Amino acid sequence: AVPLVTAISTTLGARNGLLIRDRRGLEEARNLNTIVFDKTGTLTLGSHRVVEIVAAKENDPDTVLSLAAAVERDSEHPIAQALLKSAEDKGLALPRSSSFEAAAGKGVEAVVEARRLSVGGPALLRERNVELDNDMENASRRFGDNGQAAIYLLEGENVLAVFAIADQVRPESREAVAKLQSMGIEVVILTGDSEAVARSVGRELGIDTVFSGVLPDQKSDKIKELQARGKRVAMVGDGVNDAPALVTADVGVAIGAGTDVAVEAGDVVLVRSDPRDIARIVTLSRATYRKMI
Ligand code: ADP
Ligand code: MG
Repeated sequence: AVPLVTAISTTLGARNGLLIRDRRGLEEARNLNTIVFDKTGTLTLGSHRVVEIVAAKENDPDTVLSLAAAVERDSEHPIAQALLKSAEDKGLALPRSSSFEAAAGKGVEAVVEARRLSVGGPALLRERNVELDNDMENASRRFGDNGQAAIYLLEGENVLAVFAIADQVRPESREAVAKLQSMGIEVVILTGDSEAVARSVGRELGIDTVFSGVLPDQKSDKIKELQARGKRVAMVGDGVNDAPALVTADVGVAIGAGTDVAVEAGDVVLVRSDPRDIARIVTLSRATYRKMI
């Protein structure tokens, strides 16, 4: 039988925008001392936009944009959506693409007009041992300083263009982080995105501990590392990538607007997708299980 107080708390949770999928998650929440946030789509809105295009010599911005969008046609990543939307807004015709392949946490590849092209971030550059020339290096650094992701269009190891992709911090994130910190809980960012972008979001939100460039299959290892150091950890995420980390954490919290895979991996779902509701989980857990003793 479910103790009456927990049943009541589940109802109270629902009223506060929390869907409790596993009561053990609610019970554990009172012991949390570390909350790990995925960045994209969790602390940020995940509604990316292309804000600048720097094309390598002999390429023009519209051409590289239509090529990059063609490569991304079958990708569901928010960066892909940004490139496709930008090409559409400019009324560009997309060339045909085939042989689409995704490399999780790095980028995508496809054949466009008989050329094998790829689009991706810094991890893709490292994998290909790509050296940036001065112009590309400067543009990338400038984008990073502005908190924008640098996304490259490559043909082999040749860089055809770099795109600045901007996301926006959720308006509620700052308050959510400050509240948790005031409750004595350490807040951490865990992301596949670059150090520059992750640090910039961290600065905006008052978060000093940032794990960046973490590949999808390494996210749950990071949670285990924290647990091995004695931390009681909640993971908050929205993406397919986050599901294993949500399961590994002491408490897995899924963003309601996130992917089905993440929602199914969470103990608790933030129905309103509002990160401020996480503090409510801890408060509700403390109140519920204090009464039971
Ligand atoms: P996050 O942890 O922030 O949700 P992901 O693991 O989804 O990030 O992606 C990590 C990085 O891999 C992105 O920041 C980007 O550099 C690159 N990447 C992944 N998928 C794509 C794509 N479809 N197009 C371009 N870049 C991509
Ligand atoms: Mg995400």
